[in-house]
Amino acid sequence: MHRETFKLNFEVRIGCLYRGAMSLPALQREPARKPIPLTELRGVGPERASQLARLGLHAVADLFLHRPRRYEDRRRFREIAALALDEPATVRGQIVALGIKRYARGAKSVFEFILDDGTGRLHCRWWNLPYMEQYFKQGDDVLVYGKVHSLRPRTIDHPETEVIETGSENSIHLNRIVPVYPLTEGVTQRWLRSLVWHALAEYAAHIPEPWPGQKPADVPSQQEAVRMLHFPAESDDAAKARARLALDEFVALQLAIQSRRKKLYAKAKGWPCTGDNRWMKPFLAKLGFALTEAQTKVLRELRKDMAGGQPMRRLLQGDVGSGKTVVAGCCALMALESGFAVALMAPTEILAEQHYQNFRRWFEPLGIPVELCTGSRKTASLRSSTLNVPSSKEATPAPKLVIGTHALIEESVSLGQLGLVIIDEQHKFGVAQRERLLRKGHYPHLLVMTATPIPRTLGLTLYGDLDISVIDELPAGRGSIKTFVRGPEKLPKVWAFVRSKLAEGHQAYVVYPRVEDSGSGGLKAVTREWSALQKQLDPCKVGLLHGRLPAEEKERVMAAFRDGGLAVLLATPLIEVGMDVPNATVMLIENAEQFGLAQLHQLRGRIGRGAKESFCILIAGPKSKESEKRLQILAETTDGFKIAEADLQLRGPGDFLGQQQSGLPPLRFGDLANDGPLIERARVLAAAMMEAAETYPDQGA
Ligand code: ADP
Ligand code: MG
Repeated sequence: MHRETFKLNFEVRIGCLYRGAMSLPALQREPARKPIPLTELRGVGPERASQLARLGLHAVADLFLHRPRRYEDRRRFREIAALALDEPATVRGQIVALGIKRYARGAKSVFEFILDDGTGRLHCRWWNLPYMEQYFKQGDDVLVYGKVHSLRPRTIDHPETEVIETGSENSIHLNRIVPVYPLTEGVTQRWLRSLVWHALAEYAAHIPEPWPGQKPADVPSQQEAVRMLHFPAESDDAAKARARLALDEFVALQLAIQSRRKKLYAKAKGWPCTGDNRWMKPFLAKLGFALTEAQTKVLRELRKDMAGGQPMRRLLQGDVGSGKTVVAGCCALMALESGFAVALMAPTEILAEQHYQNFRRWFEPLGIPVELCTGSRKTASLRSSTLNVPSSKEATPAPKLVIGTHALIEESVSLGQLGLVIIDEQHKFGVAQRERLLRKGHYPHLLVMTATPIPRTLGLTLYGDLDISVIDELPAGRGSIKTFVRGPEKLPKVWAFVRSKLAEGHQAYVVYPRVEDSGSGGLKAVTREWSALQKQLDPCKVGLLHGRLPAEEKERVMAAFRDGGLAVLLATPLIEVGMDVPNATVMLIENAEQFGLAQLHQLRGRIGRGAKESFCILIAGPKSKESEKRLQILAETTDGFKIAEADLQLRGPGDFLGQQQSGLPPLRFGDLANDGPLIERARVLAAAMMEAAETYPDQGA
């Protein structure tokens, strides 16, 4: 339900141009208006409407928010004689000659016209698109946009073109900065531009300010922003318009997030789950190490959250190996001591199994039942516990810890009186899955953990409804990791170095991006390189690990590497999670440019687990000076947050979002990677709006 509400709110907001003032019901003083269909515009019949629908345009409001893909300054044009190689430019001229040439027995063709602007001539060509011929004739006045790829003669292949027609409409298309839109078949720039122009003339005056009274003075009104988006008077108008509309999107997101949270607090009271230390004390005493200061600080925050009052909603971030599991263990104990059950959900069976072994070792000596529930394995006691009716007071079972995969969500799995839900590696789950697990209890506390450092701006949008705690320190006694970036020409030296480390009795990971050779790009594949590597490193034994091996084979190889029977593990990035071999101090990653920085950082987290110094060597592919520079960031820092920020800048938010899992609606104007200040601002604005909404209590939801 939460996810749906979230989406709905957003759509309502974006449709707000015609649907009343606010998405917040409490602030909606006008009755919501229906969107105006595009067919109400002159020149749009059913056929045009279905073409526009292909662009996602259904209502006039959609048309207003159809974002130009670029702008063209048609107040002055470049002279053909002055065109420079490979530089995009717009010129205007007359067609002085045109024609089609066919070759390869008519199977192939090139259509060409020659444009003259009085300073020179420009050849425009289209390969194998013979129908282009029908759009042009001799004497046409044409605008051409593209990059000249040859100067003798000056030639552009496949330029964008627009034929200038005579008539009054030219004031729309000439002598101004004009928008160039994404198009679909049958729709021309000129037609769509006119449509937007006339729609603005007729309807723009009715665009209401979505948050009246809250609009900051320094941003244009939504009405101004929409006008500027399409027909900017000055070149920076378009950017101002984009920023305003992006702000609207972020405010909508923040409103959804904040109101969801507010509703939760209004409805739910958190269970008192701080425990009485009866298991915590012996647990910490037998742990074999003291918690780091960072772990202790975080645990204090969590204990406060779990005291009761409001249900905890907290994200625990901590780099790989920072010790999140122990902290989760302590939280689990607090809830268990207080008489509540605890569920821990992990993204893979391997990870769930690992947690199961680990927690059994920790909790069973204390007499706490630990159960496992994955797709392929359910422990016996769990089966019987599904027969328990949780509400029957006299048969209250002993509080237990249940660990599993998303199988935990299933209807038939009964978890008892849930006090706490823990989710490991949150980024692998969707918001919806999280909510479904939560709903198996009555507003249990929630702790989600992630090793993927999330840049602050993304965190505000992705996890805006969670408080964030950070373990910003690794346990002492870990050796440092040195990272080097090298070109492939240095490989012989690198292998000599690896051999010297192996001779000292250390172990190494070698990572290639592919399992099998799939032909493209010369990327290294583990299966193909295995025997070559074995020869290269003889007599050291090399094991092979990748995702397509059967489970037992994987386990056998991992066990052999753990015991030292294998000195080297040749693997795909599969080893990103789960391997913990302190004696492995070397990691060599080839074709490192194929990976995101954050992923490389996770991979690197496999070494540096023991006390000895470790070495990570990144080999950038041939001819990729640029990626060498990018990889250099890893050599400069081991700070996961800095790396994540850099990754976000360089590669965009895709790596963090994980498909549509995040529950985020697509943003038309907002840019999660670069709009940090706007997102911050939206958060403050949304909070003010929420507060203002409380002053209209008569219209509450
Ligand atoms: P992650 O945060 O990646 O989940 P883990 O919780 O798996 O990290 O911890 C990594 C390793 O560090 C484990 O072997 C764990 O027992 C150990 N560890 C955790 N906390 C400490 C600590 N305070 N001192 C020493 N070792 C610790
Ligand atoms: Mg972990």
